[in-house]
Amino acid sequence: MARRRERKTDRRRQPVVTRSAPGGTPAIRHGEPAASGQTGASAGVAAGPRDGQLHIVGSAPAFAARSSVKLRRSLAAPRSWGLRSTDLCLIVFAGALLVVGMWVRHGQLANLTNAGAALSAAGQLTALLGTYSALVQVVLMSRSPWVDQLYGIDRIAGWHRWLGFATVYMICAHVVFTTAGYAVSNGQSFVSETTTFLRTYPFVLMAYVATAIFVLVAVVSVRAARRRLSHGTWHFIHLYIYLAIVLSFPHQLAVGTDFERDPVAVGFWVALYVVAALLVLSFRVVIPARMARRHRLRISAITEEAPGVLSVYITGRELNALPMRAGQFFKFRFLARGFWWRVHPFSLSAAPNGEYIRITVKAVGDFTSAIRQLVPGTRVIVEGPYGIFTAIRRRLPRVVLIAGGIGITPLRALLEELPLQRNAIVLIYRARAWEDVVFQAELDQLMRERGGVIHYVVGRRGHEVPLEPLAPRVLRVLVPDILDRDVFICGPPEMLLGVGESLDAIGVPARQIHRERFAFL
Ligand SMILES: Cc1cc2nc3c(=O)[nH]c(=O)nc-3n(C[C@H](O)[C@H](O)[C@H](O)COP(=O)(O)OP(=O)(O)OC[C@H]3O[C@@H](n4cnc5c(N)ncnc54)[C@H](O)[C@@H]3O)c2cc1C
Repeated sequence: MARRRERKTDRRRQPVVTRSAPGGTPAIRHGEPAASGQTGASAGVAAGPRDGQLHIVGSAPAFAARSSVKLRRSLAAPRSWGLRSTDLCLIVFAGALLVVGMWVRHGQLANLTNAGAALSAAGQLTALLGTYSALVQVVLMSRSPWVDQLYGIDRIAGWHRWLGFATVYMICAHVVFTTAGYAVSNGQSFVSETTTFLRTYPFVLMAYVATAIFVLVAVVSVRAARRRLSHGTWHFIHLYIYLAIVLSFPHQLAVGTDFERDPVAVGFWVALYVVAALLVLSFRVVIPARMARRHRLRISAITEEAPGVLSVYITGRELNALPMRAGQFFKFRFLARGFWWRVHPFSLSAAPNGEYIRITVKAVGDFTSAIRQLVPGTRVIVEGPYGIFTAIRRRLPRVVLIAGGIGITPLRALLEELPLQRNAIVLIYRARAWEDVVFQAELDQLMRERGGVIHYVVGRRGHEVPLEPLAPRVLRVLVPDILDRDVFICGPPEMLLGVGESLDAIGVPARQIHRERFAFL
C-alpha cells in the first residue's frame, strides 16, 4: 500500500507531457514515472466478495514478450472465409430483388386498378420487404465470424441501426396501407377494419403485438432515449425483437396473399427463417457452449494496473487451440453471482500465447466496477473472437498506433505481433493523467525490442497539453512520415472522431486507417 502511494506521488510531480525519443530510439527515459505494470511476476489482487476491497491473493503470470514466430505458428488462428464484402451485399440485394420479383409474379402489379387494391398491394410489398430486412438483420447480428470478418462489428452495428429503423417504418407502413386498402375496398372505416382484422383473421392479433414490440424497440433506440437507459436495460428490451419475429411469422403464412398457391414463395420464406434461426443458435449458444466445455476457462488472477484499472488473467485447457488474434475482442460472461446474466466486450490486452488470456478493464459503470469482486477460480464463458482490428489488415510495412485511455488494450496486444524492425512502429498514447497510463513497463520493453518510438501525450486538455492534443499539426510533428503508414486507432468514440478528422486533414487515405471503437453505435 505504502509503495502504491509513493508511486502516485512520483507521477504527480511530473510536468506536462508529450514525450518522445529522438530518431528511432525508444522514448524511455530514466527517472520518469514508474511503470504501472510489472515486468516480472506481479502481485495478484482480487477483491473480497463483500467489502469490495482489493486483497493480494496470488500471482499473475510473469510478463515476457512472446513474439517468436515459432510460438505464433503453434497457436490456432481464426478461420479465414473465402467471401468478399461485395459478395454478401450482392446476395442481400439479390434476395430483395427476388422478394419484389415474386410479388410481381403473383400478379400484384395487375391489381393496381383502384385505390383500395393499390393500397393493399403497397401494404403487401412493405410487409415483404420489412420482414426480409428484419431477417437480414438477424443474420448480420448473429455474431457469425464470417460476417464479422467481412465488415467488422462497427460497420455492422451502423447498418443494423439504419436498417432497424427502416424495418420499423416498413412494418408500420404495412399496417397502415393494408388496413386502409381493405377499408376502402369494403367501404368501412379504418377503425372498424382494424377491429375486423383483430377479430376474424387468424394470427393477426399476434402480428399486432409484434408490431408494438418493433415500435417499442425503435423508440428506445432513438439516441435521446437510449442515452437515458442503461446499456443492459436497452439490450434487454432489444432482445424482444426475436419474440416479435416469431409472433409475426404465422400471420405471414396464414393470411399473406403473396403465399397463396405458391409453394416456391413459402419455401423461400421458411428457408430464410430457418437459416436466420440456425445462425443465431449456432453462434450465440452452441459454439460458446462447446468452447466452454473444451477450454474450461477460469479466472486465474486479477491484478491492478492503475487506479480503477484491473487486468483479469484467464486460463484453461488447450488454449493454443482457441483461435484468436491480437487486436480482437471476446464477449465475456463470468459465472458468478450478479454477473452470469451479463455479457460485455473486452479486447485482449496481451497477444495469444497458449497459456492465458488477459483482458484489462477500466471501471466506468456497474459491471466494470464490480469486476474487482470476482475471485480466482470463477468460470468464464466467451463468445468470439470478434473484430478486424488485427495485424493482417496492415497494408504498409510501417504503422502508427494511437491509443486513447483504456483504448491502449488491443494496441498493447497488437504490438507483440508487429515486426521487429527499426522505426517501423510509432505509438502515440494519449491519457488525461499519468495515473491513467497502464502497461508502461510492458510498452517500453516491447518498443525497446522493436526499435520503435512511444509518444506519451499526457495531461489535461488546454492545461498541460493543447486543447486539441492530436490535431493535424501535432500528428505531423510526431510522425512526419504518417502518410506512408497504416494507422490503428482505439479509444472512446469522441477521440476516434477527432483523430479521424486530423488524419483526413493530413490526407491519410481511408484504407490505411483502422479503428476500434470501445462502444457499439
Ligand atoms: C469492441 C469493444 C472492446 C472493448 N474493450 C475494452 C477493454 O479492453 N477494456 C475496457 O475497459 N473496456 C473495453 N470496452 C468497453 C467496455 O465494454 C464497457 O466499458 C463496458 O461494457 C461498460 O459496462 P458497464 O456496465 O461497466 O458500464 P455502463 O455504464 O453500463 O456502460 C458504459 C458504456 O459502455 C458501453 N456498454 C455497456 N455495456 C455494454 C455491452 N454489454 N456491450 C457493449 N457496450 C457496452 C455503452 O456504450 C455504455 O454507454 C470495449 C468495448 C467494445 C465495444
